Amino acid sequence: EVEKLRHTLWHGYIRDITTLKQHEQELEFIAYYDLLTGIPNRRLLSSRLTQAIAHAIRSGESLAVCMLDLDNFKPINDTYGHEVGDQVLKQLALILSSQIRESDLAARIGGEEFALLIPETSLEEANSALERLRLAIETHPWQPVPVTASVGVTGYLEGDTRESLITRADSALYRAKHLGRNHVAKG
Ligand code: GH3
Ligand code: MG
Ligand code: MG
Repeated sequence: EVEKLRHTLWHGYIRDITTLKQHEQELEFIAYYDLLTGIPNRRLLSSRLTQAIAHAIRSGESLAVCMLDLDNFKPINDTYGHEVGDQVLKQLALILSSQIRESDLAARIGGEEFALLIPETSLEEANSALERLRLAIETHPWQPVPVTASVGVTGYLEGDTRESLITRADSALYRAKHLGRNHVAKG
């Protein structure tokens, strides 16, 4: 009887630990990743941006920050429904994740807005890479309608904070929209 009890307790203990660990991992995922696309969210971006700025200051290496926003996304939702819109967002996350390097970070920071963190990369280098990314998005065989994105990019300058970098990348994105969308603009 004692053996049986021990057996039950032991297994209960193991099971509880497993459940706890899974629960912890689930909570961490919900906190730092976007549930629709599975890529990092704004919170993880923020924390990685702090680290990237510290690294840029310490090493003197450059750092590029990019904001990307889908063009005319609302009409896609309105015409084809949110399911189709969601599929576009998931596909875009796949494209971003497959195009970036291991050391880069792609995050979904809002509805159809994404950010890229590109360490040890100059503004010029980032600009070229983003031009290729913009083209990859434009030429992807989207269904049922074509999709394009506007991109704003900026480089770390002495004294920059997370906020100043994001603000400058946002202004560049705004300019890309005004250039007629489907553009990369530097800020
Ligand atoms: P612009 O070219 O100026 O960026 O125009 P836009 O239509 O892309 O911009 P706007 O900000 O007006 O529209 C964004 C739309 O994104 C509005 C909303 O319906 C949609 N959206 C936001 N989050 C989600 C989401 O999680 N899923 C889907 N399907 N749509 C979303
Ligand atoms: Mg948009
Ligand atoms: Mg938007």
